[in-house]
Amino acid sequence: MSREPIISADDVVAKSEPPLASALSREEDFALRPQRMEEMVGQREVYERLKIAVDAARIRDEPLGHILLDGPPGLGKTTFAMCIPRALDVPLQIASGAALTAPKDLLPYLSNAEAGSVLFIDEIHRLPKAVEEFMYPATEDFRIDITLGEGISARTINMKLRPFTLIGATTRSGLLSAPLRDRFQVREHLEFYSHAELREIVRRNAAKLRIEIEDDASLKIASCSRGTPRVANNRLRWVRDYATSRAGGRITLAVAEEALDMLSVDHLGLDGQDRKYLETILRVFHGGPVGVEAVAHTLNTATDTLTDEVEPFLLRAELVVRTPRGRKLTSAGYAHLGATPPVATGDSPGRDEPRGPHYERLQESAEADLPLFEQD
Ligand code: ADP
Repeated sequence: MSREPIISADDVVAKSEPPLASALSREEDFALRPQRMEEMVGQREVYERLKIAVDAARIRDEPLGHILLDGPPGLGKTTFAMCIPRALDVPLQIASGAALTAPKDLLPYLSNAEAGSVLFIDEIHRLPKAVEEFMYPATEDFRIDITLGEGISARTINMKLRPFTLIGATTRSGLLSAPLRDRFQVREHLEFYSHAELREIVRRNAAKLRIEIEDDASLKIASCSRGTPRVANNRLRWVRDYATSRAGGRITLAVAEEALDMLSVDHLGLDGQDRKYLETILRVFHGGPVGVEAVAHTLNTATDTLTDEVEPFLLRAELVVRTPRGRKLTSAGYAHLGATPPVATGDSPGRDEPRGPHYERLQESAEADLPLFEQD
């Protein structure tokens, strides 16, 4: 495995975005990504707690405790991880859990870690067990045990490391083993953003991209962004292209609506992939319950894509529920597809099943342009 070089936080260029509309170019993504925690919109409680931890580490001149950030993709885990070393003025190394297949892959990162520096491991739940176990003494006592040779001639060398801070990011904290989870002194969960927060992100980023945008158009893009800044950035970029090509370069509400229509984004912000997922459960599996693997096979999609990228928002919006027997459409899910739920039986949601507060809020906010998902 090739090792990424030690880089200062200011040299970092963003990792790649998922393909959605036109992907952001590296330079533009770098330009849009907040450079300091203070510039980040929303997640105020997480920000306040991290700020205290960072300030305390700086004042005491001690390494910051290890931090675990979890939440669906695109909510700002990497952005926080990049802003923290910048606030501490320490170097940052970036690795990905999926690429660290054996302890030896981790060795260069650990031996290169400067005192007080940050090692960011994205998708940390993908670390194989052997690598995870290798991490335990490294994160707790800043030492590693390296075994040289094999069989009876094998010997173990104990190597001391400079104290560093591990920042782990995961979309599935549930997959982390308890011993690894316990090594993180700070654990933060990132939530979906409200419409008002996303509108602010769209407004700021339109200015950075030097495109004129009307306020109701910012809100329209925000309300169609599945509560996710990365989606808002991608949608903004697409609407900007559309405005440049078809509408003289100015984003009005009508231009935003036409552009989002072309992407097949509906009034709740769901795109074609979201609707295909819901329609498969409805038409192929009669509304569920159905295992996510069966849905993934039918859609010819990776199960991880459904569980990590598609389902979190649909679950939060209460269009589907997870039951011990699998995924099931809610009455709101049926209504969104223009279908009628079956008469209630033990398993089906039933026509009269009350719709959850998040769905009601989502529906009202789509109709009246109100904020979505105000923090509970
Ligand atoms: P994750 O690591 O959780 O998948 P990222 O940190 O890569 O998400 O965020 C994706 C993009 O969304 C970033 O490039 C950044 O431009 C934007 N973004 C994320 N969080 C915020 C925020 N709180 N304020 C403004 N923009 C944000």
